[in-house]
Amino acid sequence: MEHQPAIADPPLDAVGEAIYGLARQLYPICRSITGDGVRQSLAILGGTVPLDIHEVATGTAAFDWTIPREWLCRSATVTDSGGHVVLDFADHNLHVLNYSMPFSGTVSLDELKRHTYSLPDQPDLIPYRTSYYAENWGLCMQHSRLARLPEGMYRVEIDTEFKDGSLSYGEYLHRGETDREFLLSAHICHPSLANDNCSGLALLASLANHLRSKKTRYSYRFLFAPGTIGSLAWLSRNEDKTALIDHGLVVSCVGDGGGPTYKRSRRGNAYIDRAMAHVLAHRAKTATLLDFSPYGYDERQFCSPGFDLPVGLFQRSAFGTFPEYHTSADNLDFIKPLHLAWSWRIVMDVVEIVEGDWTPVSQCQKGEPQLGRRGLYAALGGDKSTGLSSMSLLWVLNLADGTNSLLAMAERSGLSFRELAGAAKLLRLHGLLS
Ligand code: ZN
Repeated sequence: MEHQPAIADPPLDAVGEAIYGLARQLYPICRSITGDGVRQSLAILGGTVPLDIHEVATGTAAFDWTIPREWLCRSATVTDSGGHVVLDFADHNLHVLNYSMPFSGTVSLDELKRHTYSLPDQPDLIPYRTSYYAENWGLCMQHSRLARLPEGMYRVEIDTEFKDGSLSYGEYLHRGETDREFLLSAHICHPSLANDNCSGLALLASLANHLRSKKTRYSYRFLFAPGTIGSLAWLSRNEDKTALIDHGLVVSCVGDGGGPTYKRSRRGNAYIDRAMAHVLAHRAKTATLLDFSPYGYDERQFCSPGFDLPVGLFQRSAFGTFPEYHTSADNLDFIKPLHLAWSWRIVMDVVEIVEGDWTPVSQCQKGEPQLGRRGLYAALGGDKSTGLSSMSLLWVLNLADGTNSLLAMAERSGLSFRELAGAAKLLRLHGLLS
């Protein structure tokens, strides 16, 4: 492992357990893009970090979109002619198509199958399906169960309701020395899916709580909003604030052992893109860097051309690439405290870069300074007690011509930001850098 972090960390295992514990509280709730599931989830997150809760009324315009009616699901069952319940929403909230219309009637097996989603290739899993913007009634079930249903008539009762209400989102702003912002966002609309995205919500709430007591240079804005429509609502109500955003990350699927994966912002070479690339190169041999594409999570809205914010997407396994994705197998066994802790560590590394970067200027530009007479010879000679390599001192001194930030030095030298920051601190202490 590398050197002491700039911002003192709690131990990683405690971090992982705390994030996992929060994800476990969020997991059972039937969330959607509106409704009490979102409010309950915000209340749980609010137990970790104080949130400002915003309600945006049904019918409110958000650019080209409109805040929909609130949806709630009380119950849903399918019963065969013998009175046996073959599907029950009470068993798993993925059993109901999210935003399903209410329905009450007796239908043939064929008709039931036309309205029931299943996964023939993963017959024991319940799929997650939504129909936010098309009116339909629907159910989801294991293909193994659906395929075994005998011909006959089935009683379907879907007790859902649409009503005028509001869309809810939560925000927490940690104020730093400047009003320049780092935006961290996670979607809060998925029901019982642990990695996508109880993991991201819990990680960001824990991170916000960690930063609360810290003095930071940047201000950190945490946003917990329903996917797409929630970020659109936030953007439409905060257009004036978007100019303050210097860095941003959308965080999802951060509890599994795959990846890590980073999708660059639309700009492609924003500071956040460079910082994430640097951290992943030093933290994980298995990291994948992807260029921006207009498919994914809320980075799609933050990176729409009228905003083009420097916001990337951080994940472990990329969405859509793991077999558990959008199924009942994305459960609390699929995410692990250790993976959550490492994901937290990666985001904190980026926070430390954003906080700790500066552009040093060497006070000795002509020839190398004589390190021996300043007591820096031991560090150069490989004294491990400083934790600094000779190369880090030499790189910082050489690149400190006033044009390179520490991140640029890290990129050019191949050394870690943390190591170069330690070297720069030592050299500054000895009056060799300003
Ligand atoms: Zn999803």
